[in-house]
Amino acid sequence: MRYCTFIILISLVFSTGISAGDFLSGGFSRFNITPEKPVTLSGYESRKVLSTGIHDSLYARCCVFQSGAEKVILISTDVIGFYGETASHFVDILSKQFNLQPSQLLLCAIHTHSAPRVTLNEGNGHPNNLEYTAKLEKKLVKLVESAMSDMAPVTLKTGNGSSPVGVNRREVYYDELGNPRMWIGRNPDGSKDREVQVICVSGKDEKLKAVIWDYAVHSTCLGFDNYIISGDVHGLAEQFIERYLGPPVLAPGFAGASGDIDPWYRVLPEIETKNGWIPEPVLLGTLLGEEVVHVIRKMKNSINTLPLLTRKETIICPGKPQGEPKTTPETPETSINVSVVRMGDIVLVGFGGELLCEIGMWIKQASPFKQTIIITHCNGSVGYLPPRHLYHESGYEVLTSPFASGAAEIVIKRTLEILNQLYIAE
Ligand SMILES: [Zn+2]
Repeated sequence: MRYCTFIILISLVFSTGISAGDFLSGGFSRFNITPEKPVTLSGYESRKVLSTGIHDSLYARCCVFQSGAEKVILISTDVIGFYGETASHFVDILSKQFNLQPSQLLLCAIHTHSAPRVTLNEGNGHPNNLEYTAKLEKKLVKLVESAMSDMAPVTLKTGNGSSPVGVNRREVYYDELGNPRMWIGRNPDGSKDREVQVICVSGKDEKLKAVIWDYAVHSTCLGFDNYIISGDVHGLAEQFIERYLGPPVLAPGFAGASGDIDPWYRVLPEIETKNGWIPEPVLLGTLLGEEVVHVIRKMKNSINTLPLLTRKETIICPGKPQGEPKTTPETPETSINVSVVRMGDIVLVGFGGELLCEIGMWIKQASPFKQTIIITHCNGSVGYLPPRHLYHESGYEVLTSPFASGAAEIVIKRTLEILNQLYIAE
């Protein structure tokens, strides 16, 4: 196999303090990160002007878990993701500030396309976005500080539901010559992962503290002609859950393997988006949030919370030029980070890129854990990772991917090896 040499792993990082404590502690916090000034929004190159208003507020939510000397900081941020140098910048700041090993931080984003572009680029970032990014940095530090100041023993429950909010977007159409082409549309027959995964975190008094949930869909309901700030599907679902359950419950949401999954609706051109209520994301966010609440109602017994173990690896894969269908001899390797957290019967698997949904489903299916939660846009965003068979079909995700055919299979194999190692570890 030509790519055998690519299965070399670099920066294999084991956190210190593997020995677990006797119990799991948790601390939780939420900060409003809605921009105070108009900003450029991230996700569509066509949008050149600044945002025109706020539909719903954006938040960053933090869960800190600790057992003995091991800890993990799990952050969900209502932005599109941490692209380019912004990921390492924020990870460095938080790691230094809180003396973290690389495996102890999962800085994640819900991938809403109606949030400010996070940028450090003084050359082409709008001054308001640069200011926003600087403020976000300070807020994230305070967010973690706040969660760490509120640590107390916790118990966990977990459950699963199902939601139709996401649909496969890889749709075939025929060009003027009758040739099949792949574009971003709606393909109800395509692969999709309807699973809604939920972890409930309660105090020793059984009172709910946090609801960590995950669902594979792009938060792109509002589309490319929207200029109003919104958390879109994930952000509105988070807010629905928090309002339904009441304070102090936090509901950090995470995007699963959603590279080829869009929400069922996008805003129609005739719908007025300038003022007030925008039906589609509110409807879909509510539906998704309600399913999370439904899963919580069905939960019964607490599960094992220990051991708490963390791993981080950079998996080297065959790369290709973005915009080209295939690799070339000069194409450098491409890597993707995987951050893994075991809490007893549960494992969180965070990837610094956009996995297409089948990859997440395969990892979940083959995982030895009771609950395996795939998180994308975690500690970076290297681009789309499609499974090998989709390279024959091409399409947006394949063309723009920095990975060559076969990369996903390397990532799946290595991820499952890590999960199996963690499963037998104590
Ligand atoms: Zn995306």
